[in-house]
Amino acid sequence: MDCIFCQIIAGKVPTEIVYQDEEVIVFPDINPKAPIHLLIVPKKHIPSLAHLSEAESPLIARMVNVANRLAKDEGIAERGYRLVVNCGEEGGQLVPHLHMHFLGGRRLQVHW
Ligand code: 5GP
Ligand code: ZN
Repeated sequence: MDCIFCQIIAGKVPTEIVYQDEEVIVFPDINPKAPIHLLIVPKKHIPSLAHLSEAESPLIARMVNVANRLAKDEGIAERGYRLVVNCGEEGGQLVPHLHMHFLGGRRLQVHW
């Protein structure tokens, strides 16, 4: 198991856990790009969005619901925030375990 996110999920790499349930875990990004930068990660190892089966797709709705709850908890639900899923090499995905970036706390620029 050389997947860094699977190691965090298994508790083998000490990481602050912001939220977790049976299917999803949330922890801060180690290299934050915004005042609030959390990673919303399914506990199941799915390599990328491109590997998500139709049967697994409700997981995405669940991750978005977690994001909306985080936004309320962080007090930025009204100000706004951004959810990003990078997929594959050209999509800028570095960690091959599906995850959603939750970014907020400042006015974000468009940069693609
Ligand atoms: P990607 O480019 O794959 O969408 O984003 C991967 C993110 O994971 C990056 O923003 C990076 O800073 C973060 N990351 C990489 N390794 C670790 C780690 O060991 N712990 C945490 N908390 N974040 C990590
Ligand atoms: Zn993994």
